[in-house]
Amino acid sequence: MKAVKKITKGQLKYVYGDNWKNVEERILTNCFCGKCGGGVAIIDWEAELNDLNDAVVRGKCAKCGGSANRYLEIGENGEYEEKIEEIKKQLVKIGIKL
Ligand SMILES: [Zn+2]
Repeated sequence: MKAVKKITKGQLKYVYGDNWKNVEERILTNCFCGKCGGGVAIIDWEAELNDLNDAVVRGKCAKCGGSANRYLEIGENGEYEEKIEEIKKQLVKIGIKL
């Protein structure tokens, strides 16, 4: 079984670069909650990379405290590809099997 590739907020921020502000303002405020549905802000979140090099952000719904998440399609974006590869190398260094 493959390990979950957790990445830090700093690493995710690094991937997005100048677009991070937009992510914080428009994406992390527009997540999905199992109870409230779409359009909720996410708090206390953690991010992971999946096998498609996309990121999944999981945390709590700011409204009800339930589980909220958001899928970030970054793997197909050429602008981010190199940075994602860098992060994967960092994960290998700390012993995470990819
Ligand atoms: Zn909710």
